[in-house]
Order: sequence, then structure tokens, then C-alpha cells
Amino acid sequence: MAPRRVQAAVIGLGALGSAALWRLAARGIEAVGFEQFGIGHALGSSHGQTRLFREACLEHPGLGPMAAESRALFRDLEQASGAELLRITGGYLGGAADSDVVAGTLRAAEANGLAHELLENRELAARLPQLSGLGRADVGVFDPGCGVIDPEATVTAAVSEAARLGADVCADTRVESVVASRDGVAITAAGCEYVAETAIIAAGAWLPPFIPELELLPIRTPLHWFAPARGGSAEAGFGVEDFPVVVRQVDQDTVLWGHGAVDGGLVKFGLGDIWGSRPPRIDPSTVDRGIETAEWQRLSAVLRQAVPGLDPVPARVEPCMITLSPDDQFVIGPTAASQRVLVAGGDSGHAFKHCLAIGEVLARDVAGEPQPYALDFVRPSRFGV
Ligand SMILES: Cc1cc2nc3c(=O)[nH]c(=O)nc-3n(C[C@H](O)[C@H](O)[C@H](O)COP(=O)(O)OP(=O)(O)OC[C@H]3O[C@@H](n4cnc5c(N)ncnc54)[C@H](O)[C@@H]3O)c2cc1C
Repeated sequence: MAPRRVQAAVIGLGALGSAALWRLAARGIEAVGFEQFGIGHALGSSHGQTRLFREACLEHPGLGPMAAESRALFRDLEQASGAELLRITGGYLGGAADSDVVAGTLRAAEANGLAHELLENRELAARLPQLSGLGRADVGVFDPGCGVIDPEATVTAAVSEAARLGADVCADTRVESVVASRDGVAITAAGCEYVAETAIIAAGAWLPPFIPELELLPIRTPLHWFAPARGGSAEAGFGVEDFPVVVRQVDQDTVLWGHGAVDGGLVKFGLGDIWGSRPPRIDPSTVDRGIETAEWQRLSAVLRQAVPGLDPVPARVEPCMITLSPDDQFVIGPTAASQRVLVAGGDSGHAFKHCLAIGEVLARDVAGEPQPYALDFVRPSRFGV
């Protein structure tokens, strides 16, 4: 049988790929999406109840317009799907005044003209008594635009909307090869062959073998939830209304992030390494999906000191992964190998909040539309490969 011809194909329907498929379908572009597992599965980078949303993005001031576009698209997707996807809670970003978290957030808020409040140590402590282990020199930025996103519901809603608008969705279908030529991109998947005018590879932690020259690094990053030491989360002040998004730089290399319980249950916390850290490479297909005590002991020790109202032994842990790019910024757009092959990856642990805008950026690339904001710092061409 001759391969089926489509205008665009998306390989991988996690956060970035599902958004790209939705935005392609919204333009009437004939598209097909492939996902090796079920839609909204828990084996990649886009599961585990919540992701933090921030508009004053300390990772790069240039991410502000992308976050703003994403927030608007979250509202569109909520309206189309009827699901609540992004809940704005406000958030506190704390640490020493010259820390990456405080200085980076202030820089991004100012560069993008975003509302924010700078809080002295005493005021931060008064607003967040749960963080009683605050450093004496810590200050905070209150960002009213912070919130929590439901990742599984977002992926599922984007794929459903794409299908409703006419996209083909091939779930449980692993793409085996992607070969670009002058005629198009030949995609071979279990049981089917397609030729696409353009292909978007959004394969998350499975992306590196498709484009090895990008030097992407998949790593393990488990998710952890904690119970209050006494009582339920609401009565202990750990519901998300009383204890919203918190990001705190605890030392030069380490960031504690989390938020109160979204469903009356457990409180989520994690530790991030300040950009530049390079943990061991994993293979996502063979990665150990068990939980090692050693992985949460450092987080436990930080929480015992910083948030003493929580039992520092996690009540729930789930394996997860992120994929680091060489400069900890995303890698979005046409590759040097072929202008027909676009990449969407190198999430570097901060892409969920931007996923819907990244889908829109990719759809604009495919449609040949101009981009409304600067993207040089996320384009593959910055690596000169
Ligand atoms: C612990 C943790 C906390 C995080 N916190 C935040 C946060 O607070 N805020 C934030 O913005 N971001 C956060 N992130 C990052 C965010 O979750 C990721 O940036 C995002 O989920 C990456 O999406 P993705 O589409 O690149 O990868 P994925 O969602 O993993 O999607 C890739 C998809 O491709 C599929 N695939 C791979 N190979 C093939 C193939 N050959 N054929 C077909 N399908 C294939 C995979 O099955 C997968 O579904 C966090 C990540 C982790 C792990």
C-alpha cells in the first residue's frame, strides 16, 4: 500500500507534541500524531497531578511572552474542553536578594512589565508561616500570576481537541524511523507508513537518538508528595489556597519548589539543581522505574529544616524524567539536517507552562507565519549544528 500523504506529522504526544497537533489542526492543516503509549500516560515527563505555572520566568526574561501566550491558550483549551487546566494561585519566589530565584524573577517581571511585590524577610515570613525555616537574609517576590496546571488533563484535552478538529491520532503506535528527503519526510510506524511535508519530533526523553547532534541529556527526576506532620492539609494550613506556589533558593546550587494540596490530600515538593548541573544520562526505555531512598533523602533533609510542619518522609513518590539541553533552554524549530524536520524538546525541566505556546510556535513555523516574539534563544540554530 502506498504511504499516506499528510501536511504535517507529530512524533510524540506528550506536553509539546499534543499542543503542536492541536494548534496545527486549529489551522486546518492536515496532520497526524503518533504516541507510543496511551494518551496522558505516566511513563514520560508529563504526569503527576500538577506542574507549576509562572509568567515571570527566572530561567530567561525572553520566556515572558511565551508564558503569556500559553496562559491565553490554556483558557482557550479550557473553554473548548470544559476541563479546568490552569488554576492561578499566586506564588512566592524567595531566597537571598542576589539569588538566581529572586534576582531572576525580578529581572523577568521588570522586563515583561508584570505585576509583582518585593517582600522583606519579615513580611515573607508573616505571609508564609509554613516556611518557618526561612533564612534570615531571605526576601521574596510575590508573583500573582503563578498557578498550578493539571498535566494529564492538558495533554488529553489537546489531543481530543486536535482529533475533533480533524487530526489523525495514532496512540500505542511507536514511530520506528523518520527519513527526510526532497519529497517529504517518510515516517514508518508499527503497521503504517506516512509521508509528511513537515515532521515535528517531540519525543521527550526519547528524542536524542532522532537528532544526536543536539546533545540532549535525559535524566531521572522523581516527584514527591508529603503529608502534614499533624492533621489534614487544610487544617494544617497546607491547602493550596493558604500555601500556594513556592520556589525558594536554599543555597547556591539548590532550589526547593512546591505547592499546597490541590485536592485536600498531599503537599507536593521537589528539589531542582540550579542550571548547569549534569546528573547521569538515562535511557528512557530501560530506566529503573522503582524508587530509591537515596533520591529523596536530600529533599527530606531540606524540608525538615525549611517546612517543619510536614512529615519529611514522602507519602508518595513517582518516577519521572526531564531532558536537559546544553544551555538549559528549550530546542524548538527547524533543524540543520532538514528544514522539513522540526524539533520540540530539551525541556530542561521548565517547559510544561509553555507547552501550548510552543505548540503554537511550531504550528506558525509549519504554516510559514511570522513569530510575534523573539525566539533565537530556543532555536536549534544557536548551537551551530
Ligand atoms: C519532576 C518534574 C517537575 C517538573 N515541574 C515543572 C513545572 O513545575 N513547571 C513546568 O513548566 N515544567 C515542569 N517540568 C517539566 C515538564 O514536565 C516538561 O518540560 C514537559 O512535560 C516535557 O514534555 P515533552 O512533550 O517534551 O515530553 P513528554 O511529555 O515525555 O512527551 C514525549 C512523548 O513522546 C512519546 N514518544 C517518544 N518516542 C516515541 C516514538 N518513537 N514514537 C511515538 N511516540 C514517542 C513519549 O511516549 C511521550 O509521550 C517538570 C518535570 C518533572 C519531571
